[in-house]
Amino acid sequence: METLKARASAQPLQDADDLINSVETFIFDCDGVIWKGDSLIDGVPETLDMLRSKGKRLVFVTNNSTKSRKQYGKKFETLGLNVNEEEIFASSFAAAAYLKSIDFPKDKKVYVIGEDGILKELELAGIQYLGGPEDGGKKIELKPGFYMEHDEDVGAVVVGFDRYFNYYKVQYGTLCIRENPGCLFIATNRDAVTHLTDAQEWAGGGSMVGAISGSTQREPVVVGKPSTFMMDYLSNKFGIQKSQICMVGDRLDTDILFGQNGGCKTLLVLSGVTSLSMLQGPDNKIQPDFYTNKISDFLSLKAATV
Ligand SMILES: [Mg+2]
Repeated sequence: METLKARASAQPLQDADDLINSVETFIFDCDGVIWKGDSLIDGVPETLDMLRSKGKRLVFVTNNSTKSRKQYGKKFETLGLNVNEEEIFASSFAAAAYLKSIDFPKDKKVYVIGEDGILKELELAGIQYLGGPEDGGKKIELKPGFYMEHDEDVGAVVVGFDRYFNYYKVQYGTLCIRENPGCLFIATNRDAVTHLTDAQEWAGGGSMVGAISGSTQREPVVVGKPSTFMMDYLSNKFGIQKSQICMVGDRLDTDILFGQNGGCKTLLVLSGVTSLSMLQGPDNKIQPDFYTNKISDFLSLKAATV
């Protein structure tokens, strides 16, 4: 009857040490947790230092596929954070790691709808690819009888967030998926919106994935949050039990669901896209174990002592 039982409402985090002592690994989402756009959220460096001094393993996971791990490493460095490339897992990397995990044939290629991060990770994984930013300026000239050729060696189409999305890419990806036998359709994420600027919400990776899903009538394999691929990968790579992980994020339908799908503890921070009223609203079905304002609350929230 477990499935019929409603999950208890999230509790405000009261004793941070209790949570910290109960797990060995923290997985942090980045935007809205570590930084907002290009500025660091208050107290983050001290919090990460404190967790490291207690011997906790820190991992940073983002659905943003526009950068590679190396490029993310630079962003952490620019913000003055001491984070190793090995600790960063972006959905661009997840796409390449997924293809490696299924022994994607060496003689097959990947058609990329997305930005540079995916290309860099495929290259590091030794996987052949085409498309990406190079196809951003291509146009279709609809002359009578025009026929678009496509590469029959494409064995997978990877779709991520793409600011240069166009009809050429839609048609090329569609031809590969529909006409190349066994061609895979892989999405880095299906996020509805993303935060390109802090002035408004912008159409996210889910809009590009939706276009290809619409034309192919196929559902993709999603490798980013909330799919558990990255969680399984992390737990295998580092040999961590999922019950020993706390997932910390600002978004309910990706971060918190990702943590729950993986069987981890979950902490929602209100420093990003989710407000307390959204968490407690009648429409919300996703309840984390705990919530708090920002991760630096770890430094101040202690159980009341006599
Ligand atoms: Mg976020």
